[in-house]
Amino acid sequence: MNIIIFGPPGAGKGTQSNFLKEDLKMTQISTGDLLRNELKKESELSKQIRNIIESGKLVSDKIIYDLIEDKISNKNIENMMIFDGFPRNIEQAKNLEIMLKKHNQHLSKVLNLKVDYSVLIKRISGRVSCPVCKNTFNEYFDPPPQKCRENKLIKRSDDNEGTVKKRLEIYDKETLPLLEYYKNQNKVLNIDAMKQIDEVRKEIRGVLKG
Ligand code: AMP
Repeated sequence: MNIIIFGPPGAGKGTQSNFLKEDLKMTQISTGDLLRNELKKESELSKQIRNIIESGKLVSDKIIYDLIEDKISNKNIENMMIFDGFPRNIEQAKNLEIMLKKHNQHLSKVLNLKVDYSVLIKRISGRVSCPVCKNTFNEYFDPPPQKCRENKLIKRSDDNEGTVKKRLEIYDKETLPLLEYYKNQNKVLNIDAMKQIDEVRKEIRGVLKG
């Protein structure tokens, strides 16, 4: 089974993908994480993408396809992939289909994490992660324990209020239309992502079993 975890920034896609890794032994493919890994290198690519990511805009489709195809072609994770943060527009969705077909796979379902926009800014601007245990916390809703605070907590450079507004704007304009596209293919499973993290986890497990 290959699935897309879909929703606006701050909906909990990364958190729930981590649970799916544990619960169903799936592999998360987060284009955001792949790009942030590139930023740690002094590569030509990192120079090209740094400003784009920090302004909240989308990087070019071509850059994304190279990162994604490298994963889709990996036999070890065949039919066990969770796409997180990809596709982000219709063009990318069509290309995903082509890449999956080329590697004899297909897309099973799209998990649509539904959240009220009013909570997203707080969810994103409060987000921090611990470099040691790798868990993500939220300063408002799920504060990190003291032992994690003693490590230098990591805050993403694009998790500030200004950039978040831009990211939400782009989500509405370019990414949200994908929902109709996948509804027409009968692939969308709606999830109430306003609930507590564990409740959302249970709901996802339930719908995927169904
Ligand atoms: P994310 O971690 O998914 O919120 O992504 C962080 C940033 O990486 C986004 O705001 C974009 O600048 C870039 N990005 C991630 N995934 C994609 C994608 N599929 N297409 C274009 N840009 C992306």
